[in-house]
Amino acid sequence: MTTTLQQLNACDSAEFVRILSGIYEHSPWIPERAAARRPFSSLTALKQALQAEVESAHEEEQLGLIRAHPELAGKAAIAGQLTKESTGEQAKAGLNNCSPEEFATLQKLNADYNAKFGFPFILAVKGPDGKGFNRQQIIAAFTRRLKNCRADEMAEDLRQIHRIAELRLNDLFGYTPALGNTIMEWAETIGAWSDDDEGLTCAYMTTAHRKTAAQLATWMREAGMEVHIDAVGNVVGRYLSDRPDAKTLMTGSHYDTVCNGGKYDGREGILLPIAVVRHLHERGEKLPFHLEIVGFSEEEGVRYKSTFLGSNAIAGRFDMALLDKLDAEGMSMRAALIDAGHNPDAIPQIARKPEDLLGFVEVHIEQGPVLLERGLPAGIVTSIAGSCRYLVELTGVASHAGTTPMHMRKDAAAAAAEIILFVERRCAQAPSLVGTVGQLQVPHGSVNVVPGACRLSLDIRAADDATRDAARADILREIETICARRNIEFRMELLVSAPAVPCAPWLMEQLAASTARAGIAPFKLTSGAGHDAMAIAAVTDVAMLFTRCGNGGISHNPLETMTADDAEISAQIFLDFLRNFRRDG
Ligand SMILES: [Zn+2]
Repeated sequence: MTTTLQQLNACDSAEFVRILSGIYEHSPWIPERAAARRPFSSLTALKQALQAEVESAHEEEQLGLIRAHPELAGKAAIAGQLTKESTGEQAKAGLNNCSPEEFATLQKLNADYNAKFGFPFILAVKGPDGKGFNRQQIIAAFTRRLKNCRADEMAEDLRQIHRIAELRLNDLFGYTPALGNTIMEWAETIGAWSDDDEGLTCAYMTTAHRKTAAQLATWMREAGMEVHIDAVGNVVGRYLSDRPDAKTLMTGSHYDTVCNGGKYDGREGILLPIAVVRHLHERGEKLPFHLEIVGFSEEEGVRYKSTFLGSNAIAGRFDMALLDKLDAEGMSMRAALIDAGHNPDAIPQIARKPEDLLGFVEVHIEQGPVLLERGLPAGIVTSIAGSCRYLVELTGVASHAGTTPMHMRKDAAAAAAEIILFVERRCAQAPSLVGTVGQLQVPHGSVNVVPGACRLSLDIRAADDATRDAARADILREIETICARRNIEFRMELLVSAPAVPCAPWLMEQLAASTARAGIAPFKLTSGAGHDAMAIAAVTDVAMLFTRCGNGGISHNPLETMTADDAEISAQIFLDFLRNFRRDG
């Protein structure tokens, strides 16, 4: 028989602890303390309360919880000494069927991990969608995490314990994250279509890109939407209201990817609203406004080195001169569009009229570790960081590495090194400020020549323009100082300067209310990454909902991950937001 929330809220503390005894391994103190936090409004609220007890516990108690867990395929597992829950989970991951080599590898990893950190390695082996990791994936995760530092691994172990508890609670309650599972399955389906044999690359107007667009259109149609693919390749689905005077609330994100990217970046923000609309349509539920989901065709700039093609077209800001840009093979954007059956001349007609729009809300995986570190499945974005990018060229004198005395050198690379360290120091001075030198070259460099030239990129971002501009001014001044002292000439070219985009407070408030109703404390954070919402902000108010990103918050990488449960929570927040949406202002 499954447990219900009413049961848990109504029973005495002893019974509450007994029912939840198998959720956190050999640690009854967790439900004992959480019992006082009743009643819980939802299963999510219960999960959050149990997690909060662990997070606020002493380090010794946390270590006790971690050490109460068995090693993966360890001695206790072999001897049949695990709890019922652990036995089932390890067997489902096939850890009871290891080859002798795999078994030896796992024993060595267990020993090394324990020796390095003083506690066992813990992994929720059922994985992000509950279907289970295979043994190769488990060994890969183990090997990767062994390289981390102790504090990070302790935090990660606790997060994995929370994930194990989440899956056990789902079983106990007979609960399935239905919308989340759909989103994960769809992401898996289109995530398999790539321009390359290995990894996920989906660049503008390639075969994989066009196939993905067609599939998105199919899912939108099946969900009860009116669908078309526009001249720039955006997949547009409209869930129409019965009201004749209805305006349009827009949502969506991009379906292109970076080279060897993640399955959820962009795509979550298309698939999640489709799953939500399908849910509404199945119930015959209409909205008092039209809901438009846009799968933006291009945001990342991989093929034509120009970003936001899809969202800029919707905002009426598509630069028609871009059509003449060539890709690496010499094919123009215009030719690529015509080849895909589009009419590039019709792109200006895509532009939306601001007066038809109610706003734009984008759901996106966070692509960073903030929500992960706070133990929150979702968060509300306050502002999308503006960025400025420069190319810096330093010119010194190339001279003989053996004969040029140290005090007589004009070493362009050494100047670059000083610049990089200053960027790092200066950009650590404000919370949302970040600065990166991502490209660094010594053109025609040689092992026996003092570098006569050096080229470096510079990317500075912050949630507000004043913070970014102050950092930019300091960095430019320091570059001058360093170069003057070292007798280096420099030239700087401004490549990009985009202002920060604040999210609309009235939309943020409604997202926060929906988040609270989902059983989660509303948490606000800034977005360091650019998103389609930045472009759409030119025509309507925007807001964003972030979903927690696993694996330390890594993105633009095949390791990017999120869970079905977190996708479900974001979907429930979005659904609640739609049902309660009011136009404000
Ligand atoms: Zn993205």
